[in-house]
Amino acid sequence: MPLRTIRELSATGKRVLARVDFNVPLQNGTVADDTRIRAALPTILALLQQEAHVILCSHLGRPKGQVVESLRLDPIAPVLQELLGDQLQQAGEQRVLVIKCDECIGPAVESCVQRAASRDVILFENLRFHPGEEQNDPAFAQQLAKLADLYVSDAFGTVHRAHASTVGVAQLLPAYAGFLVEQEVAALRQVIDAPQRPLTIILGGAKISGKIEVLENLLPLADNVLVGGAIANTFIKAKGLPVGKSYVEDDMVETASRMLALAKESSTELFLPLDYIVTDSLTEPSGATNVNPDQIGLEDMVVDIGKKTQKAYRDVIEHARTVFWNGPMGVFETEQFSHGTMAIAKALADVYNTAHTVVGGGESVSALRAANLMDSIHHVSTGGGASLEFVAGRELPGLAVLQA
Ligand code: ADP
Ligand code: MG
Repeated sequence: MPLRTIRELSATGKRVLARVDFNVPLQNGTVADDTRIRAALPTILALLQQEAHVILCSHLGRPKGQVVESLRLDPIAPVLQELLGDQLQQAGEQRVLVIKCDECIGPAVESCVQRAASRDVILFENLRFHPGEEQNDPAFAQQLAKLADLYVSDAFGTVHRAHASTVGVAQLLPAYAGFLVEQEVAALRQVIDAPQRPLTIILGGAKISGKIEVLENLLPLADNVLVGGAIANTFIKAKGLPVGKSYVEDDMVETASRMLALAKESSTELFLPLDYIVTDSLTEPSGATNVNPDQIGLEDMVVDIGKKTQKAYRDVIEHARTVFWNGPMGVFETEQFSHGTMAIAKALADVYNTAHTVVGGGESVSALRAANLMDSIHHVSTGGGASLEFVAGRELPGLAVLQA
């Protein structure tokens, strides 16, 4: 189903509430990584160019329905103002003022919206300070909706959540997808709608339960599935091989067995590691060794894919025409356990000219950034969970409300 997008919107003189994803990492009260703010700029600029009154709202972190001082959106305002200013200046346009309100609903916000001059950009306080946000409370959605004439959704990272700001408001106002949402959906559709084959899915990371479930939908679609990370440990256990003290989700072992059978039925090749990096201590990585599956000791933890596996996975990637990667191959935060993840990142970068490559997932994207390979991938998704659910073929509530 096509989405109604910002391209069809005439917003001149209108108040537009844009749900953006400013859930950025903070360090000592400042923005440590502005990627997500940059990702929202095309939509904000387009609205400004149409002379709309721009109102931005976002969540930040997990305040769980109450005010958490360290999770206010104040540090974001100056960064946004600077980034917008640079872009406007380049276009030969006047800079704008970003006005941060200390609330997102109620009388204080109403007067903030009323007082704003035509080119001011208003930034609301953290939506999740109110329990109504995550509960998709109709009264909370109504209070947000009454502040605007139109709604634009540009927070791809939260479109898999039915919250007040992603679904409730969209049902109360004419709702459109922003450029980021449009671009994410287009790139991800290329993975699942008539993909160029072979289609290779690479799945790793730690959030085993959520990921094995989406695998059920992905397996029949893919030609090859390469498994790594902690998720591989559950498969290894399902095959009856030793896992030592590795991180395994025991209640998912049966699901993993089912996935192995499903792969056979659907003639999808599911690859498990041929060798691993093991350690008996996560904090003392110097003793890490590369072992074969039958060499795992009782105290060993599998923390990365081994050298043989790196090569085997690389071969599969080299022959793919579409690649989707979610989840690191190991505990990549520690240098000694990062080589498998880095090898996959490099392999994806190396097929830039022959395959459509898409990466999603918070940690997978950090690994790409650490490897300095962000620009060598066709699409790096800003939404880990959302991208995974999208390729799994699930209906995302925040997109369903934008359908034309
Ligand atoms: P993403 O954010 O890319 O979706 P996840 O959040 O699912 O990825 O998982 C990332 C985490 O998985 C990393 O912090 C990494 O340390 C952890 N991880 C990867 N492999 C293993 C493993 N073998 N054992 C324990 N943790 C692992
Ligand atoms: Mg993660």
